[in-house]
Amino acid sequence: MSRPPPRLIVHPLRSPPAGCDRDRLIEVLRELGLVGDNIDQDDFAAGPGFLDYISFLGCSPQVILAMAEDRESGGCGREGAYIHIPRETSAHLLVDANARPPRCPQCHKVDADWRRQWLTVQAAEPVCGHCGTASPAERWQWGRGGGWVGLHAGIVGLHPEETVPSHGLVEAIAESCGGEWRTFYLVSPMEGANP
Ligand SMILES: [Zn+2]
Repeated sequence: MSRPPPRLIVHPLRSPPAGCDRDRLIEVLRELGLVGDNIDQDDFAAGPGFLDYISFLGCSPQVILAMAEDRESGGCGREGAYIHIPRETSAHLLVDANARPPRCPQCHKVDADWRRQWLTVQAAEPVCGHCGTASPAERWQWGRGGGWVGLHAGIVGLHPEETVPSHGLVEAIAESCGGEWRTFYLVSPMEGANP
């Protein structure tokens, strides 16, 4: 099996924000021009405003975006970029193999022993090893490389070293969908942690 392409995950901290579901998210991303036509049920071509929100430092963005629509690969030695918005929106841990441990929402210390509770036990409310507080999984603070993710859009084929999401991206989505949104890159998903 080939490794899945890296992706930029865009998601609300609490999923879903009141009044926002998958259909509304797609509508908002279309209004922003980030998302265009459906490629298939869960995948969308980049819209006309895509490059207003994502800066490419590498090869031609037009080439990369066009390749995804035709489901081609190989142009400038890489795959095309498209947007994946899964119909399945139940929240789960989405985490990179080299993700930093999450921080406790109560004492803000890093839980170095996080794998046991998050992956082995899959506790709904992991207990902090420092202050002993049990906090719902969605309240723990993940840095780059991970998150507790339900409703989301994944911009597939974006390599972190050559793409930069604009600061306006999450603000624009939050303004229309409500809630607080964040992004992180999933480069090499951790085995057993991701569906
Ligand atoms: Zn704590």
